[in-house]
Amino acid sequence: MQQFAQHYNNKYLKIKELSLDKTSSSKVRTIRNVTCPFCGILCDDLVIQNQNGKVKVIENRCPKSTTAFEKELPENTPKIKGKKVSLEEAIDAICAILKKSHTPLFAGLGTDAGGMRQVMQLADKTGAVLDHMHGDALIRNTLVLQDLGWITTTMAEIKNRADLIIFAGTDASHYLRFFERVIWNKQSLFNLKNDKRHIVYIGENLNTKAGISPTGKRPTVLNCKTEQIGEIISSLHAIVTGASIDVKEIAGIKIKTLEKLAEQMKAAKYGVIVWSPAELDIPHAELTIQNFCEIVKYLTRVTRFAGFSLGGNDGATTANSVCAWQSGYPLRVNFNKGYPDYDAHHYSTRNVLKNKEVDALLWISSFSSNTNAPRASIPTIVLATPDTKLNFRPDVFIPVSTPGVDHTGQLFRTDSVVALPLKQVRRSPYTSVHSILKQVIEKI
Ligand code: SF4
Repeated sequence: MQQFAQHYNNKYLKIKELSLDKTSSSKVRTIRNVTCPFCGILCDDLVIQNQNGKVKVIENRCPKSTTAFEKELPENTPKIKGKKVSLEEAIDAICAILKKSHTPLFAGLGTDAGGMRQVMQLADKTGAVLDHMHGDALIRNTLVLQDLGWITTTMAEIKNRADLIIFAGTDASHYLRFFERVIWNKQSLFNLKNDKRHIVYIGENLNTKAGISPTGKRPTVLNCKTEQIGEIISSLHAIVTGASIDVKEIAGIKIKTLEKLAEQMKAAKYGVIVWSPAELDIPHAELTIQNFCEIVKYLTRVTRFAGFSLGGNDGATTANSVCAWQSGYPLRVNFNKGYPDYDAHHYSTRNVLKNKEVDALLWISSFSSNTNAPRASIPTIVLATPDTKLNFRPDVFIPVSTPGVDHTGQLFRTDSVVALPLKQVRRSPYTSVHSILKQVIEKI
């Protein structure tokens, strides 16, 4: 592996000196306050050891971050139609495909802020359609925000102030340290004690164990189908406004239980409804999310209440934010008309491929090797982690480095308000999405 890295380094890439490796390579280097890029909550307290290039998460880890940081860097090289080539040849091949293309699709978009800025520039230059691999989840929120607006909060506010937290359709188990980092705190700014917090779950098949406080206080659980969560929340909305509901139960939940929860919501000093748009995988999920946001708005007349969306994996929040601040629109956008044309449904990866509206595909995934790049019958370029296994042979493949592991960068956290700096914790023979796209832009 060492030999391969050296060969690759010399032949294809210029790698910045990694300060932690500058002295004796046998030394163990410890890097503190590392931001983990492997899910949207971006824990920024990891402690990582690098011993002779071998990375170990030694503090504040979860199974996902441990696996992702500690996996060995596999050998891979740029390829054109499966044949090994130099990085330069691969970049030339990308330029040739994009030059020929009338409307390319840039999808996946699993990259950091720097990579996404290059994506935007290239999209402008080539007239591309943009969509993220988690585009379906992203637009569920966007549709609500653009329609009636919302009031949302941050992880810090939940940690320091929230005394009632309602998990609607999610148990946050895909965000493995959410409860540790945000809910069951060792300390909070305003001395909010854990036992003063009340946790509520609404939904089906939720693992509610994490909602039991360290002293054993149990959460309230309202079991219902995901499709019925909106009905429950709109009934709660009616109850908090003072309406009486003339049935005994809604979606299998007794009205008395809903009335009790409505009282708790009004009495809370700072209530929060948490949802995960990816997990609300039901038709018109945006209407359910809109129910969350509308009850929040009503409750702010009598107390403090806010919504909180859990998501942002694979740089989704970052891609959406960079697209919004540079084009004026969130994803999904088409640059082919000479101006950014936003359409959340029309420009989905699925749709434009199915309708043959695009004639080349550039798929980007620099965090996860398991991203289901679509198999398309058009020239396809894949920039992905070196361990990515594809079930097809793309026209061009370039293994890329991972932001926050192999190079520095910035990512936006799921609450969209904080951009966290990413550190480099090891040397990698692979180059970044930012660098590859910059070269494409210069050459095309
Ligand atoms: S919870 Fe998410 S951000 Fe935090 S360490 Fe685990 S994978 Fe990384």
